[in-house]
Amino acid sequence: MERPRQRAFAPPSHRGFVAACYLGAILLAVPPVLAAPGPRGAPLPAAEAAARLKARLCWDPLTATGSLERNGNALSFALGSPIALFRYTEAFVLDPPRDEGAGLAFSEAALATIEERFSQAEAARAARFSVAAILIDPGHGGKDSGAVGEHLVGGKRLRVVEKDIALKLSLRVYDALRTRFPDRRILITRSGDSYPSLEERVAMANEVSLASNEAIIYVSIHANASFNKNARGYEVWYLNPEYRRTLVDGAAAARAGEDIAPILNAMLEEEFTTESILLARHIMNGLGARIGADSPNRGVRAEEWFVVRNAKMPSVLVEAGFVTNPEEAALLANEDYLRKLAEGIYTGIVDFVGYFESMKGVPAP
Ligand SMILES: [Zn+2]
Repeated sequence: MERPRQRAFAPPSHRGFVAACYLGAILLAVPPVLAAPGPRGAPLPAAEAAARLKARLCWDPLTATGSLERNGNALSFALGSPIALFRYTEAFVLDPPRDEGAGLAFSEAALATIEERFSQAEAARAARFSVAAILIDPGHGGKDSGAVGEHLVGGKRLRVVEKDIALKLSLRVYDALRTRFPDRRILITRSGDSYPSLEERVAMANEVSLASNEAIIYVSIHANASFNKNARGYEVWYLNPEYRRTLVDGAAAARAGEDIAPILNAMLEEEFTTESILLARHIMNGLGARIGADSPNRGVRAEEWFVVRNAKMPSVLVEAGFVTNPEEAALLANEDYLRKLAEGIYTGIVDFVGYFESMKGVPAP
């Protein structure tokens, strides 16, 4: 992530002035005769220019400075100045905004420069970072039941099996993600009571073909067990940063020279660890918001889980609760509680995707 640079030029609103801001879009209703560009060379009134750019205009007549904002990118200008600032840091030249008696206006040339500036930044962002795929991995399955909790609750026998809880939660998260992100590849390692091996699950994730600007995230869903029947709560695990994976494949390492491979690995490791911690935190927040006081938040933890360790991507493992605790087992057997857990995990993933795509690599304003 690039470090935010010092803000050299802030729009009026940041300096505490009451600035007039217009949303360009609302002016799209202007009759075509008025909205059409003026005669050759005649500048376009600022509100119409903003509408054409689909940008939000802020203008402070007191300081004769203003800004245009589109998709999170701000472009700051001053009346009569050929120098404008993009995202508070990048100076560039444009045909000066002017006022020839009828208020602030932009020439066609200035508009073209501004449009180009916005488009370039938007294209760069779109091309650089996106979560193209999300792989949901219900833990265990088939011959592998995972943890099993057997209790007597209110005179009734209660049997809670990890593989079933993991599948129910995963299918809910999977369905919600597919609805939310119809254009992304949402995958699941099993959709029934089958048993893909750990190697097969990781291979499934690593086989997803991605462009260099695309990322995949991996979320493995489990339930917990402990000899201590009092243990309860949910937690999210990520890979221990001490552990160094071999991420660079053999051919790439040979091309790069053996010496460089450990460095590349360390860099990739750092990157994936950072993203994994962020993903884990977003999911914890999502769960916290939905679960509330029903079950304790045990926090984000680091460990060397196989399924996480071998995935070349931001990856976490969610432990939804303890099947060995009678109260929690009762919760995990309850469809309404599972719905809440799934909503929490889903919300965390969606929030992480938004964060990853909006913040990563883009200088903070
Ligand atoms: Zn498990």
